[in-house]
Order: sequence, then structure tokens, then C-alpha cells
Amino acid sequence: MTESAVERLAAIRERIAQAASDSGRDPASVALVAVSKTFGPETIRPVIEAGARVFGENKVQEAAGKWPALREAFPDLELRLLGPLQSNKAREAVALFDVIESVDREKTAAAIAAEIAKGIGGQGCAPRLYVQVNIGREPQKAGIDPDEAAAFVARCREAHGLSIEGLMCIPPANEDPAPHFARLAALAREAGLSGISMGMSGDFAAAIAHGATSVRVGSAIFGARG
Ligand SMILES: *Cc1c(COP(=O)(O)O)cnc(C)c1O
Repeated sequence: MTESAVERLAAIRERIAQAASDSGRDPASVALVAVSKTFGPETIRPVIEAGARVFGENKVQEAAGKWPALREAFPDLELRLLGPLQSNKAREAVALFDVIESVDREKTAAAIAAEIAKGIGGQGCAPRLYVQVNIGREPQKAGIDPDEAAAFVARCREAHGLSIEGLMCIPPANEDPAPHFARLAALAREAGLSGISMGMSGDFAAAIAHGATSVRVGSAIFGARG
């Protein structure tokens, strides 16, 4: 018998708590975002029943297909958008997600602000927002240049009236992530932001050691994606 997603979830929670206490942090200060992209409701449901409450998806369309029914069954879930957001999907994203972690251009910030103003997610209801930083300056990767992150956060605030909760990054695949995690944490501190979203299946312990307030774990819980 191979391990189930529920068993892997329990193991990941333990490793998160261990990594937190290893660096003198309160385990409760690190949120686990279970990344359920490509997996269907039949796989996700037992993980919810085992107590996971925060989930991450990469695509607005895919999330819109599977989450409304799950949210109805489990009203206290938190859903996060981790993948790129085109401004023409802002309306749907603001209506569906509690947190959008991939704000990385002004056009998208403006579109999100416009939908919030229209009350699209419910009056007075706005998703919490993270700015994605291209921490390794990779040409193929989304995100704001690290040197421009602070100015972009300020512009989101001043020009669009958006409140930014934190920064998110995905370090280069074949490098030691630690210096990138350290830099993202420093950038967040400098910008006065409390949220630091970094660390995935392969490197969440290092991210926690560098101050991650949320880690995004997919394959280590749900298994390999097809
Ligand atoms: C897919 C994805 C993850 C999860 O990756 P795993 O290596 O499967 O844990 C985390 N963050 C983002 C932005 C992703 O796209």
C-alpha cells in the first residue's frame, strides 16, 4: 500500500512544526497551503476532512470548476491563487479567492482594485494580496524584479488603494534556495509587510528557517502531478 494524501499531510504538518521549533519559531506562525492543482475533489476532500483548511490553486478556471461545491460543504476554507493572473480574469479571481499571491503588474493591480470597488466578492469583501517577486531574476518567470518590489508595493497602495499583505517567491529550480529566501524576507521587512510566502515540497524547511509565514506544499501531500 502506498501512503495516502491524508498520511502525507500528517507527516508534512509534523515536519513544519519541527522546522519551526528548530528555528525558535511558534509552529502556529507558519500556515500550510495545500497546493491541490490538477487534483480532483475526490482527492482533495479527505485532506479537508483531515483538517487542512488553506488550499492553493494555479488557474482561475480550474479552481472555479472544483471549489465552489467544496466551499459550500466546508464554509471555513481559505482558497489562494498562486498562478499568474491576467487582468481579464480579475473579476472571477476576486470573487473566488480569499488570497491572491501572484500580483506582479500594475494592470492586474488596477483590475483587482476595480473589481473590489464594484463589490464583486461581496460588499466590503476584498481578497488579501501578495506581490510575487522574481527573486532569481529568471527571464521566463513571473514576478516583480527584487529591486523594484518596494516601489511596486507602494504604488499598489498609493495609486490603487490596495493593501498588500506580503511577498511571494519561487526561487530558481537548480540553486540553493536559502539566499533567495533570505532576500525575500529582507524585502518584506523593508516594505513593512508581515506575510512571507515561500517554500514548496522540496524546500519548505529552509523557507521556515528564513521566516516563511506560509509554505505552499503540493506534491509532498497529493503525490506527483500527472
Ligand atoms: C505547484 C506550486 C507549488 C507546489 O509545488 P510542489 O513542489 O508540488 O510542492 C507551490 N507554489 C506554486 C506557485 C506552485 O505553482
